[in-house]
Amino acid sequence: MAFTLPALPYAFNALEPHIDARTMEIHHGKHHNAYVTNLNNAIAGKPEENLSIEEICKNISKYPIAVRNNGGGHYNHSLFWTVMAPNAGGAPTGALADAINAAFGTFDELKTKFNTAAAGRFGSGWAWLIKDSAGKLAITSTPNQDNPLMDVAEVKGTPILGLDVWEHAYYLNYQNRRPDYAAAFWNVVNWSEVAKRFAK
Ligand code: MN
Repeated sequence: MAFTLPALPYAFNALEPHIDARTMEIHHGKHHNAYVTNLNNAIAGKPEENLSIEEICKNISKYPIAVRNNGGGHYNHSLFWTVMAPNAGGAPTGALADAINAAFGTFDELKTKFNTAAAGRFGSGWAWLIKDSAGKLAITSTPNQDNPLMDVAEVKGTPILGLDVWEHAYYLNYQNRRPDYAAAFWNVVNWSEVAKRFAK
């Protein structure tokens, strides 16, 4: 079973003005599509074809670097599209809000720490809000297309929110202003999807 590019759950221009349509079109149709194609090529005829992308990530140290880069790319982008939505943003509620307050004190403090992780990741990578094995929330970042599910990650956990900080994710609209892109991201966070991932 080859992996497939998931459809974007909204139009390319749905996240404007925070993320522009041209960026979304290239990001989904070219970048994510290439990760899927290259992942499929890297695992063709191997037992990994029958594993989920999560299972592959959890044992990523067993596989060639092409699987790490492209498998991570496929997992990360699949999550990224779903944790954003048009007419979203605002603040989390319910059990997720309680867990955020327990871990960070306030929602604003979570945003500050997350934005710092996004700005501080040198080169290309991701900022993450994760749930650790004890159910506690934490913020981390990973290089390249690594993610916190991977056995090679410095800080491990289940990602419930992620921000792509590769230049391809923001350069057309924000050029070198990664912090502005990270700040704008909060206007499109799909908290109901994040809450669903937190509850799992
Ligand atoms: Mn990307």
